[in-house]
Amino acid sequence: MQIKNVEINIGKVCNNNCRFCMSGRDEAKKLGFVAKETIIKEITKKANEGYNSVGFLGGEFTLHPDVLEILAVAKKNNFEIIHIISNGRKYQDKEFLQELIDAGANRFSVSVHSNQENIEDYLTQRKGSYNEKLKGILNLLDYYKQGIIRNSISLNLVINKLNYQNLDQFILFFSRLGIKNFRFNYMWPEGNVLMNKKLIVRYYDLFNIIKKIISLTDKLKIDLVFEGIPHCVFPDFSESFKFSGELRDYPTTVLSLTNYDGTENNNSEILRREFNWQKRKLSSLKVKNEFCQDCKLNNLCEGVWHTYIDLFGWQEFKPIK
Ligand code: SF4
Repeated sequence: MQIKNVEINIGKVCNNNCRFCMSGRDEAKKLGFVAKETIIKEITKKANEGYNSVGFLGGEFTLHPDVLEILAVAKKNNFEIIHIISNGRKYQDKEFLQELIDAGANRFSVSVHSNQENIEDYLTQRKGSYNEKLKGILNLLDYYKQGIIRNSISLNLVINKLNYQNLDQFILFFSRLGIKNFRFNYMWPEGNVLMNKKLIVRYYDLFNIIKKIISLTDKLKIDLVFEGIPHCVFPDFSESFKFSGELRDYPTTVLSLTNYDGTENNNSEILRREFNWQKRKLSSLKVKNEFCQDCKLNNLCEGVWHTYIDLFGWQEFKPIK
């Protein structure tokens, strides 16, 4: 099946306040969620444009008061993949999770950053969030094992100073519970990260860690991808192909919807931004050095977050010959 994927951001409201959140501005969170009528109109439009895969994110999509109706519209419009990217806390309520599935959700990614309660709660700035997520993940796994959810559950983690030395333990813990898909995102120095720079792990500190966790994948029969880690910082660049989220992700249209905040010239009550995620990264969010011209993988590489280079420079990178 040819996938045509759109990810719809429906506003920044969230029940966490992660120290590395990209949509960190408090003002943005106060604007609330975009009304269901706008979201429903956009879903229908995207279905008419031939999209067959939709992802919902925020903020925290599961908090939208009309979440079930929104999912039902995606189902009615025959989207093959209806994906929720969530912090998973609301999935602790098994009946609510069943309602999401009945309404149409068929793929679930949960953001979780540690298998240690104190670290997760510190990172999300919400006491109790770890236990709620864990309960939610167990509920998802139960529905997956029963065949009620078709696609395997994926865990999304942001690599940071408090978890990077225990990524192997994280994988072992959750794979024992039944998780088969892991996505480890390099921290993008944006949003809340700029107020918590001490959480950024330098690429050179990841070298041995990457080696160690890659070695677990065959043994545990799990799928692991990294995002935001250029090929030249992998211990073995031939492996970076297999584990590169950038090379494996579907081309994705991002549709970002927010209620108008009064700061830009705008004729509508909604600020609507639509762009291709991969192109945006290449054109403005990531950068390359002149030496990348000499790199064997230049054509396959997106480069490095430019905000990382602004902070730390280029000394960790070198062209692959
Ligand atoms: S193109 Fe540049 S950033 Fe990308 S892998 Fe090569 S040297 Fe690294």
